[in-house]
Amino acid sequence: MTNTKLTEKDLKVIEFKRICNECGQVWHSLKNREDALKKEENDSACQTSLMACSCRPEATAQYNRNKMAAQTDLNSMKKCPKCGSTNFKETEITFDSYEKRKQSSN
Ligand SMILES: [Zn+2]
Repeated sequence: MTNTKLTEKDLKVIEFKRICNECGQVWHSLKNREDALKKEENDSACQTSLMACSCRPEATAQYNRNKMAAQTDLNSMKKCPKCGSTNFKETEITFDSYEKRKQSSN
């Protein structure tokens, strides 16, 4: 997917609202952020950067650290920040930033 043209859909902000079933803690997470982290987690070193090939072991090590950080971030979003439980209810909230932009430009 190399289409860089912004569509109406791309301008929508989707947020997950999560409620812990154990302690009732509520937290939010942006879908875009999670998608970006998932992508970072799945990309191979050479796809992400030509600099990070096996000829540059230190770059690969740096890449692996970034990948681990992405994994840790992603995991922390999928558990309760208060009690650490992964037993939560998830609701998807969509903000129509496209509509807001249209209004503010008038
Ligand atoms: Zn909790």
